[in-house]
Amino acid sequence: MAKPVVKKEYTLLERIYLWEILKGMKLTWGHFWFNFKACWRPGPHTIPTCWQYPEDRTREISPIFRGEHMLQKDDKGREKCIACGMCAKICPAKCITIKKAKRKEGEEDKYAAKTYSSSFEIDLLRCIFCGFCQEVCPKEAIILTQEFEMARYTKEECILDKPKLLANYQKAKDEGKLRPPRKRVPVVPAPPKPEGEEEPEGAEGKKAKVAAAGKAKAKKKPIAKKKAAEKPEGAEKVEATEKPEGAEKEE
Ligand code: SF4
Ligand code: SF4
Repeated sequence: MAKPVVKKEYTLLERIYLWEILKGMKLTWGHFWFNFKACWRPGPHTIPTCWQYPEDRTREISPIFRGEHMLQKDDKGREKCIACGMCAKICPAKCITIKKAKRKEGEEDKYAAKTYSSSFEIDLLRCIFCGFCQEVCPKEAIILTQEFEMARYTKEECILDKPKLLANYQKAKDEGKLRPPRKRVPVVPAPPKPEGEEEPEGAEGKKAKVAAAGKAKAKKKPIAKKKAAEKPEGAEKVEATEKPEGAEKEE
């Protein structure tokens, strides 16, 4: 729907224009002087509009920022990944490649579970940093760190293999940037169904209905047979005698 245009009645000052220009210039100069004074502050130039990167790297990164990946280890220094493949399965860019291996005797201090990933590769050139892999991981093994400097010179450098992923974990640990363990959402059991309530219209509900209908049919059949058996003897004779007149002629 078209918006009706209402003609505004301008005041005398607005019609002169000069006053409005001066008002705009006041705002512009206000910002200019604020930033100009901030440039002469001691320490990093932390003016609100500009961050002097890369000289100043003190800017705090959001805790939910999704940067380069890492593979975490548990408190005992063992690899958490069990090579279940869920991260590779859910990855929309199909950039994760995993090879699974079974833990041998004597490797208990290296791998936390009976299975581990003998090879783990992430193609950073294809990754879209959606974070699905870390969301789906049952062991919180794969995490996207706060590392945002991912410029590389060659394509090969953009493939994150297992040593690089573990090195990212070590780096984050040394810098104190490891994330606290995620709080799992508690599974609340479904409340008991009140008596007399109808079955929910789901797949199970439909199945139950079909099964009930089948049982009802099976029960109905013998009743129909019974009825046929209970038919009076004269009824059959009546059917035979009540032939249309035309039918007899045709014969
Ligand atoms: S990183 Fe997590 S989801 Fe991926 S294979 Fe390892 S345990 Fe499974
Ligand atoms: S962040 Fe998204 S695209 Fe990147 S590896 Fe994880 S699931 Fe795949």
